[in-house]
Amino acid sequence: MKVTDIMKKKMTFSFEVFPPKEDKPMEPLLETLNELYRFEPDYISCTYGAGGTNIGRSLEVCKAVKESGHNVVPHMTCIGNTREDIRKYVGEYTAIGIENLLALRGDFPKGWNGTKGDFKNADSLIGFVRDNYPDLSIGAACYPEKHLLAPSFEADITHLRQKQDNGADFLTTQLCYDIDAYRRFIDRIRKAGIGLPVVVGVMPVLNKDAVINMTLGNGCSVSRDLADIIGKYGDDPDDFRKAGKEYTCSLIHRYIAEGIDGLHIYSLNKQKNISDILNMAGFPF
Ligand code: FAD
Repeated sequence: MKVTDIMKKKMTFSFEVFPPKEDKPMEPLLETLNELYRFEPDYISCTYGAGGTNIGRSLEVCKAVKESGHNVVPHMTCIGNTREDIRKYVGEYTAIGIENLLALRGDFPKGWNGTKGDFKNADSLIGFVRDNYPDLSIGAACYPEKHLLAPSFEADITHLRQKQDNGADFLTTQLCYDIDAYRRFIDRIRKAGIGLPVVVGVMPVLNKDAVINMTLGNGCSVSRDLADIIGKYGDDPDDFRKAGKEYTCSLIHRYIAEGIDGLHIYSLNKQKNISDILNMAGFPF
């Protein structure tokens, strides 16, 4: 089912997973997925690795999700892909009945300073997919605190508008622990004529180093209350995880109170911690 059709009726609820490395078995992820299905997600999104090396693995995961009777949103990037590659991969997805795609530029692999493919940015990939697969529901990434490398917020929003104009149907946010920044972002994009539904991506707070690396590495801010948790519990991984889970619950509640179109949990393939958070947060919402 198309994500955009579900959104017409309710706030979507979904998880992101990533495929195992080429030399690792699929079973642990399949077990994780079985646990995540208990929360009846509207869809599972599956990332696509840097350099395109694990496209086979992404396809394998997406097939498994689809065969289990669940909805799936494969991620697809410009990295290293020609038009023909995109046509082939997206064709493989649509051939098994997948109706959605998250179209991204992708992070450059180490040492690259471009995509080394036919598309330089997500907007042109979106336009190509829209032209070739008019029935797909296409998602795109957005950045409530600005994309790290965008020269200005204004430029980033102009590029986001281009994604809408080229055929994107919905947006999914980068992690954002600052709800005020999220509110300002929504205000800015609506004023810029971007009316697409926005799914909020929530990155669970479970490990101090991972949180600091992901937040600062993506040019996002550490909110005042998250800084308190890092300062108070940073030396004790168990206490940090406990406080982080409570913080993540509160973040989920605060986002839902904003009237968001969708809630997307970056599961990090960690079903136990994710189940704890959702149970603590009083799922279903
Ligand atoms: P773009 O929209 O191309 O933007 C990248 C930069 O270029 C921005 O600074 C933007 O302002 C600028 N820009 C955009 N369009 C133009 C243009 N026409 N001309 C000039 N400048 C332009 N990465 C992966 O490798 N695999 C994944 O599976 C993956 N999943 C993700 C899921 C989500 C929800 C999010 C938020 C990110 C994900 N990423 C993934 C990371 C993403 O690929 C990076 O953040 C990447 O740096 C930007 O991707 P984008 O699609 O936003 O790129």
